[in-house]
Amino acid sequence: MNDIIIGIDLGTTNSEVAIVESGKVTVIADAGKKILPSFVGIDDNGEILVGETACNQYLIYPERTVKSIKRLMGQDAQVAMAGQAYTPQEISAVILKRLKAIAENYAGRTIGKAVITVPAYFSDAQRQATHEAGQIAGLEVVRMINEPTAAALVYGTGPDEAKRMLVYDLGGGTFDVSVVGVQAGVVEVLSSHGDNHLGGDDFDQQIVDYILEHLKQQGIDITGHSKAMARVTRAAEKAKLVLSDEPFAQIEEEYLLEHQGTPIHLTLELARSAYEDMIADYINATLDAAHIALKGAKLTASDIDEIILVGGSTRTPCIRERLFDEFGFEPHGEVDPDLCVAMGAAMQAAMINGQDIGTVLVDVTPYTYGTSALGYLDGMPYPYQFIPIIHKNSVLPVHKSEAFMTHQDGQRQVDVRIYQGEDPDALNNIEIGEFMIEGLLDVPAGNIITLALDLDLNGILHVSAREKASGKEKTITINNAISRFAAEELADAKQRIDGLFGENADGEEGFASESAAAAEARQLIKKAESLFETVSSEDKEDMVGLIETIVAALEVGDDTGLREPVERLNDIIYYLES
Ligand code: AMP
Repeated sequence: MNDIIIGIDLGTTNSEVAIVESGKVTVIADAGKKILPSFVGIDDNGEILVGETACNQYLIYPERTVKSIKRLMGQDAQVAMAGQAYTPQEISAVILKRLKAIAENYAGRTIGKAVITVPAYFSDAQRQATHEAGQIAGLEVVRMINEPTAAALVYGTGPDEAKRMLVYDLGGGTFDVSVVGVQAGVVEVLSSHGDNHLGGDDFDQQIVDYILEHLKQQGIDITGHSKAMARVTRAAEKAKLVLSDEPFAQIEEEYLLEHQGTPIHLTLELARSAYEDMIADYINATLDAAHIALKGAKLTASDIDEIILVGGSTRTPCIRERLFDEFGFEPHGEVDPDLCVAMGAAMQAAMINGQDIGTVLVDVTPYTYGTSALGYLDGMPYPYQFIPIIHKNSVLPVHKSEAFMTHQDGQRQVDVRIYQGEDPDALNNIEIGEFMIEGLLDVPAGNIITLALDLDLNGILHVSAREKASGKEKTITINNAISRFAAEELADAKQRIDGLFGENADGEEGFASESAAAAEARQLIKKAESLFETVSSEDKEDMVGLIETIVAALEVGDDTGLREPVERLNDIIYYLES
């Protein structure tokens, strides 16, 4: 039996371990969780904590907990944990040791070899430190590969394909963007850029600031209360995750603390649009970095064939939207962006081990679904702007919702239309459903209607429109939202091609496949009929008689029988016209 080689993504915020078995890549779960927070700590009893438990104690006992150690790799530094000093390699080794144990527990045997991923920008010293961390953890690091390379391996290419990919990796604390070239399964990083201090944590901090400001307006300052701050920080991240799927998030924390003898409960709503404004500068910075990376590879946006999303923060919908606007196509996100790098590491490990690997298959929607709303098209106001809600390549099942506002005072109903397609003009997409939500509150314009789309693994799309203020709701179900369109597209194509062969939609032969003589006869009948109003009744009678004979011959396809009546009818017409 070959030695097992595991693939490890040793991340700043989270780490994962994966393995290839019988050609299939598996990210190994520990107690049901595939993601191990990159936190190390010492508990009350002096025991070592790794992952979730260490993360949980971080805000309360920061002096006993270490996070984001990756940032210090390769530096001649030490960190303090419960009064002891540790090198970055040692702390990283604790995480690696835990991942090794998770994999051993899963495989039921000892594991001694690993492929570990590192950021493309890592220097020799940083790579060397990672290698040492592996050794300390009892792992032979058989190879270190760049994170974007690992991600690109997962998405792969056919043997004869050459592609240029942009790997956009936005995690909790770091942002990296790389341009990679893939040819015949060989991945090469052409250029990389990024920001070591930009990520989902910054987004959380924006929400924390928003909450603190809200409390401050009530005369409450919680910044000196570590437990309350820990709860607010956690609530902020939770709200952020909700806003990736919903247009509003409710932030609620009961008994946050006591203020002048009264318990303080936090109740606050955050709209996605307000949140997107808070993080807009960060997203702009990532796009600027993407352009710098492109420049570094001497390429422009139009040279990129695919965009790969990596890192949990890429689930933020406006990131996808901005990339779509910038590059003109949907980025890939079908492989879990948190697990993609570890999966690539395991694939590389399997290749080194001579194992076969199948392609990574996931169920995704091949289409974008959305609705139409009053908006803009080419800079002009337009009533049918297409608003995508579920994007192409989303992993199934998927639930997404968006908020819309009525635009007239006292508007009591809204016509909801659902489209499949990607054109900014909804009318150029395929309408797949329409319904009215009626009996809305008699209120000024701006009444919020939330539209939710749920697409399940069977391609059934559930649509619901809900008036936020009253809870009034109307739902419809669209069966075969996916396959129906594949079938419809096929039917359209068939019709088009059949048409070229002169067949009608039912495959029956139409006029075009008739003989030239028959086609000429039909033309002649038309011409004769157009003269009826101007001819004598005698001539008309003759013409009608001849037409009847011609039609009889046409019906049985008797081209020879056409010849004489056609000739005679032609003579009459010639005579009448001259
Ligand atoms: P990573 O370092 O790649 O594991 O990414 C972790 C970051 O992704 C954290 O900041 C998470 O809060 C963030 N994240 C995870 N899931 C989501 C989501 N659904 N929407 C937005 N951010 C997310």
